[in-house]
Amino acid sequence: MTTSTAHKQIVLECANCHTLTPMQEFSGACPECGEVLVEARYDLERINPQEWVKSLRDRPSSLWRYHEVLPIFDTSNVVSMGEGVTPLIKAEALGASLGLRNLYIKDERQGPTGSFKDRQATVAISALMEMGVDEVVVASTGNVAIAYGAYGARAGIKLWAFFPALTPNDKMREAALYGAEIIKTTGTYDQTKQLAARFAKAKGVFLDRGIKSVAAIEAMKTMAYEIAEQLGQELEDGEHWRAPDWFLQGVSGGMGPIGVGKGFREMLGFGLIDKLPAFGMIQSTGCAPMVEAFRRGQRVATPVEDSQTVIATLATGNPGLAYQILYDYVDENGGYFIDATDEEAFNAIRILARTEGISVEPATGVTFAGLFKLAQQGIIKPDDVVVVNCSGHTLPVEKQILGERWQETVDLSHAETTPPVPAGDLVSAVRKIPGTLRRVVVIEDNEGAARLMSRLLVAHGNAEVYMAHDGAHGLALINEVRPDLVITDLMMPEVDGFAVIDQIRASEALKNVPIVVVTAKELTVRERDFLDTHADLLLQKGSFIDDEFIQQLVEQLS
Ligand SMILES: *Cc1c(COP(=O)(O)O)cnc(C)c1O
Ligand SMILES: [Zn+2]
Repeated sequence: MTTSTAHKQIVLECANCHTLTPMQEFSGACPECGEVLVEARYDLERINPQEWVKSLRDRPSSLWRYHEVLPIFDTSNVVSMGEGVTPLIKAEALGASLGLRNLYIKDERQGPTGSFKDRQATVAISALMEMGVDEVVVASTGNVAIAYGAYGARAGIKLWAFFPALTPNDKMREAALYGAEIIKTTGTYDQTKQLAARFAKAKGVFLDRGIKSVAAIEAMKTMAYEIAEQLGQELEDGEHWRAPDWFLQGVSGGMGPIGVGKGFREMLGFGLIDKLPAFGMIQSTGCAPMVEAFRRGQRVATPVEDSQTVIATLATGNPGLAYQILYDYVDENGGYFIDATDEEAFNAIRILARTEGISVEPATGVTFAGLFKLAQQGIIKPDDVVVVNCSGHTLPVEKQILGERWQETVDLSHAETTPPVPAGDLVSAVRKIPGTLRRVVVIEDNEGAARLMSRLLVAHGNAEVYMAHDGAHGLALINEVRPDLVITDLMMPEVDGFAVIDQIRASEALKNVPIVVVTAKELTVRERDFLDTHADLLLQKGSFIDDEFIQQLVEQLS
């Protein structure tokens, strides 16, 4: 894929004072004001968007297929392992339980080192190759050092990696395996960055920070290109590209959403898409300077000095200019900054793993915990097309995620031993339900929600589930099956949930059947009164997910 682009022009624009510097002359900071956050500008008029899109089809599967809009002059300098072009996976079950019909997961776990930092590493290390740099210093909470370690090893570039105290040992060990020099500090991420800068200066070694913002923003931008292309295949005719309504990510330094926003802007300029997505940016409650500032309506964030989260990956206390860029983006295009606690993140990891078979690291758990909140609060609407950046893999599974009782050990030195039956968990609770209480009729017109409920009921107990998609069929089924439990939606065409409940309660044969109402409807006082007296349990859609839902049903059944 060697393409010499001798005529390509790349200029770096300072995010603070907008001074332009040709990339070849850039020395790590704006020559006017010293700002390190700069954005690359290309001579995009040279690209014919329609022809370019067609030519992409025959290119190798890596983010370098977009090389015309990446900060490299000669693609023979590219250090690549096929990173990028990750799957966009539709999340049916999780979407249904949140009341979202178009939920997609951009699976960045599938990169060479298991996080979306692989994108940054391939761009940064390739740029360093082009600059002739053979040694680099980086400050990292784990994933950047791992990715730079891997790409640095391929390129023969030596890496000095500085880590804050909170970094998990497993992450540092992985970076060490690639041959990086590992320096762990006793301080915060922000303090560690300062130490790395002092070390680089004293030793005369190139500091990653000098190209960090360019490499990171341009690399993360490729996610936007892929998403628009993939959604075009999924929701349009494949010829046209499409922006989602929402892009969500757990945010620390903010390079991901800044890059993604830049990518969508470029595509808008090319006429490839017709709008920009809203951004959902989620921070860890223990270190949420952006969320705090957003709540107060401020464009400048107050740095957090004493981060309280155990999730090192999201522990940037001082986001600097990155927050202003994102604040302005949200101001213009919509979006939200929201926080989630470590506990909420761990819970979200369990739910995601059990509904979608996708296991993620805590920083990504924060993203999903934020998704749950934005959906439940109605900020994300049921028909919105939502893309979640599934930014990193689980390994190692942190102890907190599973709790103490995740395994049983069986001593095989006694031949007759059989494994103990675990007590007190959900499955055993369902098994305790009397054998006669098994038939469940589910009346639900949303097919996704119906399928999820049925799947959960069958998976967690041995319920026989009978489905009806409207009230009339539901009543017929109830008369035929004589269920032990009825679960019904309220809003359905013709015979609605209220009518179903009325008729059950009016029938001599059926009037004692427990009824669970699951609804997304805003209830009036009269409707609520009716349900209080006529139904046994009311579950608001979106306010339950998986375990909680099953728990309540189990209580209902027993
Ligand atoms: C780096 C990282 C983040 C945060 O990235 P920013 O866009 O720079 O805020 C989130 N999740 C994972 C897994 C990461 O490695
Ligand atoms: Zn400047």
